[in-house]
Amino acid sequence: MSANLFNTGINGNYSSSGKNAGNLSSIKIKYLEHKIDKLYMITEALWLILKEKNHLDDENLTELIAAIDLKDGRRDGKVAISGPRNCTKCGRVNSIRQMYCIYCGTFLNTETFK
Ligand SMILES: [Zn+2]
Repeated sequence: MSANLFNTGINGNYSSSGKNAGNLSSIKIKYLEHKIDKLYMITEALWLILKEKNHLDDENLTELIAAIDLKDGRRDGKVAISGPRNCTKCGRVNSIRQMYCIYCGTFLNTETFK
């Protein structure tokens, strides 16, 4: 498998000011669409491998997706996002999106899919 499978290739260092902002937005949307397509293909490939090797079927996957969707009590097709959390070292509040405490630098992200 290629080491660059998840490499997106664009670093996002653009300025969005001036008359090119519309073009830049269009480029960014196309880039995000490309990333989504790539992730969709990777996900589908992984599912096909798992399905074949573990004798699963699409119903198994559908049930698991529904269970994940319902983690927040709502069947809305969206991933549940946890709220802010406290740093294990300094105790200060950080956004769930921070991998490291913004105050002391302690590694925060211990959950694989958060
Ligand atoms: Zn901290």
